[in-house]
Amino acid sequence: MEAAGTEAAEAEAAEAETAEAEEAQESGGVPPGAGGRWGSVVGVGVAAPGPLDHVRGVLRHVTGVPQLAGFPLRDALARRLGLPVVVDKDTDAAALGLALRGKESLAYIHLGTGLGAGLVLDGRIHRGGRNGAGEFGHQVVQLDGPPCRCGRNGCLEALCMDAVRRGRTDEAARILGVGAANLVSLLGVDRVLLGGRTILSAPDAYVDGVAAQLRAVVGAVGAVGAAGAASNGAGGGRAVRVELAPEGTRTVADGAAQLVLAPLFGRAPGAPADGG
Ligand SMILES: [Zn+2]
Repeated sequence: MEAAGTEAAEAEAAEAETAEAEEAQESGGVPPGAGGRWGSVVGVGVAAPGPLDHVRGVLRHVTGVPQLAGFPLRDALARRLGLPVVVDKDTDAAALGLALRGKESLAYIHLGTGLGAGLVLDGRIHRGGRNGAGEFGHQVVQLDGPPCRCGRNGCLEALCMDAVRRGRTDEAARILGVGAANLVSLLGVDRVLLGGRTILSAPDAYVDGVAAQLRAVVGAVGAVGAAGAASNGAGGGRAVRVELAPEGTRTVADGAAQLVLAPLFGRAPGAPADGG
């Protein structure tokens, strides 16, 4: 038994999904070999850029790709693939996959072409009432700062992406650390897990930079770099751990597969199946 996890962590990927779906429609609405071709595949989990309505699987105003707003991605794919489809935000899918590993509280921070976070509190995904609890990148950290593509100014994402564009990884990591420290201070999470292609391009710099910022704010911090070696002293029993998300580039895709698999096995902390 398996599920196909799809990471559409970036907007381009979401467009690819749409294009695929349109291709299927052109072939008569039935994918080649539907009903037999999929074998033991029980469903498709799609992790797409937020914000989106995870209950109905409808995309909202994805920053940078306004034309996708309102697109019913779940229903479109389900109709054309002939399989059950679950759509969730990329960061929440990753958080789901990570939540299944334990009962702790953690923040998964994803830095790719944008910045987002998924929250797990006491082993359950925390979405907030409006599914926006993970809009981590759009916390304003500099009043009257540079414009953000969300329309506000001085968002964490705008500052961080600007540093990335200028090749200033140290500065980007420090900015990320400020945001992570805000999360840890507010929510008391035990672990900060970093993922996404930008972080994976310089994993140790990001882990160390975020850990340094956290250490300045919350004290005891243990950082685990790309080689898996702890650095900077792991601190006391309540030290916050900063480390790379365990599956590297697969964190989000594995989480997407769990969108389908976890409810089948009665393990859906905060997943759509128990949320209506
Ligand atoms: Zn913003």
